[in-house]
Amino acid sequence: MALNSRSPLLDSLGWVDYAFQPAGAAPPADAAYGHQRHSASVVMDSENVPPKSCESDGIIGTGDRAVAVYTADCLPVLIADDKQKHVAAVHAGLKGTLRGVLYRAVEKLCERGATPDSLFLAIGPAIAPCCYELGQNMLSEIAQTTGVPQPVRWHQQQPHNPQAVRAQAQAQQQGIWFDLPGLAKQMLMASGIPAAHIDHIQVCTYCMAEAGSSYRYNSHFSSGYQSRYSWIRRRSSG
Ligand SMILES: [Zn+2]
Repeated sequence: MALNSRSPLLDSLGWVDYAFQPAGAAPPADAAYGHQRHSASVVMDSENVPPKSCESDGIIGTGDRAVAVYTADCLPVLIADDKQKHVAAVHAGLKGTLRGVLYRAVEKLCERGATPDSLFLAIGPAIAPCCYELGQNMLSEIAQTTGVPQPVRWHQQQPHNPQAVRAQAQAQQQGIWFDLPGLAKQMLMASGIPAAHIDHIQVCTYCMAEAGSSYRYNSHFSSGYQSRYSWIRRRSSG
């Protein structure tokens, strides 16, 4: 199944190459990526050559090397700084997002000369509100976390996804349906990034993406899952 995983915004820049690869496909041979721990740690690419040299959930590239993250249901976020021509890849699951990994990535790019309005971002395939049930207790925890913009986006009723290619997640508890990509976008905007600079590729890993994409689907059906690598690099001038 061919899903459209292109970001018109990143495509429009003209100086980046990037991909939200299908689950199970190998990353570029030179890609730097961290040993991911749902942390707010963001490092330079040189610190993760070879890959997984250190723990990090965000990685910044200042040269031609690809920087990558691997995800299942978590958000892969790719960032391009149009001013310095730097790039970043961020692994933003719920935990890492609440710990501030997106804020940290923006901050670190800005320490290197970016400004929030010079950043262009794409949020890739991730679990969407149509399939992401959380307990009520989690919702209060999220709402009370420092740095979380209000109001927090969630649905009482499970949203129907007309584009689903397999059954949506079944309710497992009297929970709520959480909008993690929505939270990420709110936080990025709270960092000063214009909404028009944020693309969201609306592919739910649970019910829309290729088989083997979803950690949660696997936990419901023991069907197995594989990581999706998402990467970005400055296009080589040579
Ligand atoms: Zn879904």
